[in-house]
Amino acid sequence: MKVLLLGKGGQVGWELQRSLAPLGELVALDFDSTDFHADFSRPEQLAETVLKLRPDVVVNAAAHTAVDKAESEADFARTLNATAPGVVAEAAQQVGALMVHYSTDYVFDGSGSAPWKEDDLTGPLSVYGRTKREGEQLVAQNCARHLIFRTSWVYAARGGNFAKTMLRLAKERERLTVIDDQFGAPTGAELLADVTAHAIRATLADPHKAGLYHLVAGGETSWHGYARFVIEHAQAAGVELKAGPEAVDAVPTSAFPTPATRPHNSRLDTTRLQSTFGLTLPHWQVGVARMLRETL
Ligand code: NDP
Repeated sequence: MKVLLLGKGGQVGWELQRSLAPLGELVALDFDSTDFHADFSRPEQLAETVLKLRPDVVVNAAAHTAVDKAESEADFARTLNATAPGVVAEAAQQVGALMVHYSTDYVFDGSGSAPWKEDDLTGPLSVYGRTKREGEQLVAQNCARHLIFRTSWVYAARGGNFAKTMLRLAKERERLTVIDDQFGAPTGAELLADVTAHAIRATLADPHKAGLYHLVAGGETSWHGYARFVIEHAQAAGVELKAGPEAVDAVPTSAFPTPATRPHNSRLDTTRLQSTFGLTLPHWQVGVARMLRETL
């Protein structure tokens, strides 16, 4: 079996290089790959790459993920998040491949407090959310056999992340202020990559499993709760901090104005994914604690 991975260098792409490797021959590309073109700003070249390689599975982990920057470069964000995935999906359909794609909680307007289900009405608040929603629609329309995973608050041990930023700030400052009115589940790139590999195998065996799924870690928290957890964990591990968990002040989103509006309610209901694939999504604290053990 041949698997084509696009966007191999991102948080999720990096972990997919590990989790997809046992499935078969893995061709992993990034926007500057030279053997085959995989630059999402040049969608026509992406189609050529898929048609030349003729993979059994295409996994797209590339995206324009700079949520605030997207507000001032909507056309570019649309090309990367919608047009290009749509072109890849069309080519995947032509070669009979299963197409895997990632989307986001930002497709919802964040109202209410109930976890969003896959079929709930979308209502993106930002360019990023709108272009990701368009990408979902194009992938689903253009490639019959697809898996689209909506996730949220992704972190990885490699590179920068929210937890590392909080730790740095807690070492530098006496007090921190963190938003406490946005709710979701921090989800590890490792978990996303592992579930993706399981879901690919299951969907190849039973094409009826193809479709749209919410995929996040279990439980929920706010950014404030997330920051406190990280700092408590670091303190318990003996890390010297100026600010302990009691010095993390809760503030509303309005305290940190940003170009893009973020949803308040990013809770995603994962019942469909867990029951279709027979998988259990561990609590977010399990993955964050593991990442901290690797980082500290
Ligand atoms: P990253 O930003 O870590 O990775 C995105 C990848 O896309 C990077 O490797 C980036 O390369 C690559 N890329 C950027 N521009 C191009 C281009 N022109 N051509 C090809 N590749 C390009 O994102 P994540 O791994 O966190 O996200 C994976 C998926 O999950 C995305 O679909 C994202 O929308 C979704 N998601 C992410 C969330 C998050 O909190 N991060 C939340 C919800 C959903 P480079 O780094 O060199 O720019």
